[in-house]
Amino acid sequence: MKANYGYMDGSGEYYITIDTDKCMECSEHFCVKACPAGLFRIIEDDYEDMVAEIIPNKRQAIKYDCAPCKPLEDRPELPCMAACTPQAIEHSW
Ligand code: SF4
Ligand code: SF4
Repeated sequence: MKANYGYMDGSGEYYITIDTDKCMECSEHFCVKACPAGLFRIIEDDYEDMVAEIIPNKRQAIKYDCAPCKPLEDRPELPCMAACTPQAIEHSW
């Protein structure tokens, strides 16, 4: 399943999408330590699988929390995506 976390406002759509089918097979959970803003946590879902999610009280500010990782020019690979070897993470912006 693809789970979307974030929001849209007048300036755009700000969603982080996590493919939980890939998380289920992931034992390393490198996303948690890789994110300087501490946006990720690992939870047990309704099917008793351990998957990543964006911490609930941070979902409405991801545009701002992610900004340091996303300079307007010469944007490097994002730390979360670089750390997630199963490639379970997408960003909408
Ligand atoms: S590193 Fe990627 S696959 Fe592993 S738990 Fe984090 S988001 Fe899921
Ligand atoms: S872009 Fe940076 S702050 Fe945003 S989720 Fe990825 S590592 Fe965390």
